[in-house]
Amino acid sequence: MSAGGIPSRLSTELYRERTAASPAPIVLNRKRCACNRVVTAKQLAQYGKCDSCVRAAAVGTKEAA
Ligand SMILES: [Zn+2]
Repeated sequence: MSAGGIPSRLSTELYRERTAASPAPIVLNRKRCACNRVVTAKQLAQYGKCDSCVRAAAVGTKEAA
């Protein structure tokens, strides 16, 4: 009498499928943010700045708006 039992095995297989299908991982080169903190190239490509700068910008935007 189990109507909606999702086997955990299925999600694992889905995860593996997605991981295999995803493109090659971006090489984590070290770069430097404007605040002189070392960040990964991936972080810079995604946000253009380090994590704390992104958060600071987000907070600033929130307070400004
Ligand atoms: Zn920064």
